[in-house]
Amino acid sequence: MEDESDEHFIYRLNDNGSGPSLLVKVCAERGWRIYQPCARGEDRWNLWWRAGAFPAACYKALGDWQFMNHIPKGGSICRKDSLSRLLRCMRRIYGSIYDFSPPCFHLPLEYAKLVSECSRLRRAEDGSGSNVVWIHKPVAQSQGRGIFLFRSVCEMRCGSAAVVQRYIERPLLIAGYKFDLRLYVCVPGYRPLTAYMYAEGLARFGTDKYTLSDIHNPYRHLTNSSLNKTGPRYAECKDRIGSGCKWTLKQVRRALVGRWGAVEWLVWQRIRALVTLTLLAQAAGTPPARNCFEFYGFDVLLDESLKPWLLEVNLSPALAADCEADVIVKQPMLHELFDLLGLPMRHTGLSLLQGPPTPLLNREDASCSSEEEGVAARSVPSRVKTAGPRRGQRWRRRRAMPIHCVTLQAPLPDTYTSTSCVAITPADCADESWRGGYATAASRRRMVSACTWGNGVRWHRSAPRVGRWVRIYPHTLPDDEQQLSMEDARESVAHVSKFVRAAREVVKESGRDIRAPRDSGRDAAFEASLRKKLGYGAQFEVWLPPF
Ligand code: ADP
Repeated sequence: MEDESDEHFIYRLNDNGSGPSLLVKVCAERGWRIYQPCARGEDRWNLWWRAGAFPAACYKALGDWQFMNHIPKGGSICRKDSLSRLLRCMRRIYGSIYDFSPPCFHLPLEYAKLVSECSRLRRAEDGSGSNVVWIHKPVAQSQGRGIFLFRSVCEMRCGSAAVVQRYIERPLLIAGYKFDLRLYVCVPGYRPLTAYMYAEGLARFGTDKYTLSDIHNPYRHLTNSSLNKTGPRYAECKDRIGSGCKWTLKQVRRALVGRWGAVEWLVWQRIRALVTLTLLAQAAGTPPARNCFEFYGFDVLLDESLKPWLLEVNLSPALAADCEADVIVKQPMLHELFDLLGLPMRHTGLSLLQGPPTPLLNREDASCSSEEEGVAARSVPSRVKTAGPRRGQRWRRRRAMPIHCVTLQAPLPDTYTSTSCVAITPADCADESWRGGYATAASRRRMVSACTWGNGVRWHRSAPRVGRWVRIYPHTLPDDEQQLSMEDARESVAHVSKFVRAAREVVKESGRDIRAPRDSGRDAAFEASLRKKLGYGAQFEVWLPPF
């Protein structure tokens, strides 16, 4: 007899059953049940969401019906030191297109280099380097912990491994306050790279006005909300910013348009390029993996010339609801993330396996259960069983996703029948003679297989947009259904560079006064012009925050 949990989509949080408030809320709104450890096996879950990376063995034991929020080796860009190493390496190969990360030194290894760079700057003929500001950040910490600014290496307190970065001294300010942008990015596969970015996001403000004459006040210089919400002026109604320290991207866009006109449109295109280039830096180092995705938080700072700088990438972006902006942005973002991934909207079952997910179903078509779950943090054993199903349970590995799965992907090929009850064999539907940049037919087959998830979602035929999630890479898909995008970094970087050039031309040639106020047709006209320049069809979408 089936137990009741077999009728539901089960989500598992970390190793102890607790997780961020908005994630728990969204899972409950989708009618999912929280995982309860039971004697019948630890694999009775559909989605396992963990703040940190999973042990390697978990990926091997993953069933068709199971999904995890990390990809093996998907976190290399999330450590400050390895991000800087990867970007340095890409800069060496591809040149100035990778100039979006401040110069960086790794301590203790590169201490001598830092000292000589400081003295070189001090000796600079125009004297401009004598007052350069640096920022010291411990590699293994987050939320602004252990960060300090300094002008001379003598002021530096050395401790654990850290990076020292050139401080962006002239950030773009709104009403005198510094801010950075938090952008949400989902990567359902690196081989080949498929990446989506959410059109909404957050701006996080410092809560004291910015000035370089006081570099030791963290509320002027660090924009982490975990830090600023403890600041003395957090609740105060600040000039233009209001109370608190967060805005939505929509608010930022409106503020920028007023001051920068059409150039503002270009900023978002440059951010899209920066995110794609960063992901490409680690794509080759991640093995193909199925039913796994990464959900990143990219932190980007704009300087006063509107150039975007990458500050860091977070493996586990905060999903708590500290203020109204958090709820406005994160709650729909999570729902649409699960829609994008083809995870069901309501009551489904581990054991319900009738056929392929319903293609091209609207969210409106799927009723949203408002059932409230008791989701108090549960204490469960922290040991993670990593083996596959036990003897006698093997049949469960062959289950695909439950029948009510909301999938917005194109319909599956006819080979997927309701009686076969097994995810399609991707190799069956690909043209054997085509290798598109892959060394061997076998490696290409592995790639196709990783692109086809157990719920039938095929990332090599992915939708250009699901809700506000816009596919930022690949820009378009090959016309031939059977083909995969190229997996060639050089070619991918070339695509991105062509994209940025075209976006610049669009703004330059717009024929309007670029400082003119934005009219409602401008975004659409720019999108059409960009598509035309790049020779892309409807498969290409411009990523732009709402206005
Ligand atoms: P953490 O992981 O501790 O949040 P970050 O690298 O995000 O570390 O830095 C924290 C804050 O410090 C950022 O939100 C930003 O406001 C500021 N910051 C970091 N690096 C720089 C830099 N190179 N130039 C200017 N500001 C920076």
